[in-house]
Amino acid sequence: MSRTYNFSAGPAVLPEAVLRQAQESMLDWQGCGLSVMEMSHRGKEFVAIAAQAEQDLRDLLGVPESHRILFLQGGATGQFAAIPMNLLAGRARADYVDTGNWSKKAIAEAKSYCAVNVVATGGSGDPMSIPPQANWSLDPEAAYLHYTPNETISGVEFHWVPQVDEVPLVADMSSTLLSRPIDVDRFGLIYAGAQKNIGPAGLTVVIVREDLIGKAMPATPAVWDYRRQGEADSMLNTPPTYAWYIAGLVFQWLKRQGGLEAIAQVNKRKADKLYAAIDGSDFYRNPVHPTCRSWMNVPFVMAEEKLDERFLTDAKAAGLIALKGHRSVGGMRASLYNAMPEAGVDALIAFMRDFEQRYG
Ligand code: PMP
Repeated sequence: MSRTYNFSAGPAVLPEAVLRQAQESMLDWQGCGLSVMEMSHRGKEFVAIAAQAEQDLRDLLGVPESHRILFLQGGATGQFAAIPMNLLAGRARADYVDTGNWSKKAIAEAKSYCAVNVVATGGSGDPMSIPPQANWSLDPEAAYLHYTPNETISGVEFHWVPQVDEVPLVADMSSTLLSRPIDVDRFGLIYAGAQKNIGPAGLTVVIVREDLIGKAMPATPAVWDYRRQGEADSMLNTPPTYAWYIAGLVFQWLKRQGGLEAIAQVNKRKADKLYAAIDGSDFYRNPVHPTCRSWMNVPFVMAEEKLDERFLTDAKAAGLIALKGHRSVGGMRASLYNAMPEAGVDALIAFMRDFEQRYG
């Protein structure tokens, strides 16, 4: 069996150790005689699996008691609507920072529920950058301030947390959660689709401050109501049990790697060496300002666009897959999530050097 190095932006590479554990327990989980996939979500076995996953995530991120963790469905896209439904709490306006594609999608959805004040627009220009907070036009009456710490498509990442006073800070951490330690206390709400650093697609993690729960609009569907999901331990309806289980295995794997401090060092090293290889060549180019380059998603273009297809074909032959940039931007993109081994990044860099020698 040979596994590739998978640079997909999501669904993305999972730790091989986790896949092996899943394989071993596929037919018979811990002597129960059935797969986790076949268990009732109300049975004591699955309830224990779910609770352990939640505890491990709480430990990893240092989630304080003031914040509740929900395991939901509907992806980050579902949260684009759930957030205004739950957090407007009678207010008519919300602040959004626009740093790219995913910010824009969150903004478009929020407009169905409230007046959106775009406090700043970034993630465009060459190189792409993030406007400093000093230039943002914040609304003191906003129900919350929403931003996208890592724009998965363009590879634009905040390496700082916006400063807020009373207004709750809401972050779409889909492609950055668990890549490094964060101070959860500074956020009113954090959300992420699982299919990057957490586990398989189908699960959405929401971490929300308790005082923001319980103010949903009357018409909010029950599955989107944080209070009702919280009261039901995220099992108001049948949850994505298998994705939740695998996420739990990923959390335990992360703990074995030494937690988020340790994985952050590896992630930084992986990203630094790829950016250094790109910057050190006249053939490859990354279009993002060095102050806001993503650790997780590294887009790059080549001197000649017509070589893109050849690059992808040759990379695939070398066991390096899913390097095609998002259809909206073209070029290449290497996603370097936690489960991408450093050896995979080394192999990519060696391939890029070789390709440049052949075609540059
Ligand atoms: N936000 C960001 C930053 C993302 O990267 C993605 C998915 N790539 C989404 C939102 C949408 O997530 P989902 O497909 O889980 O709805």
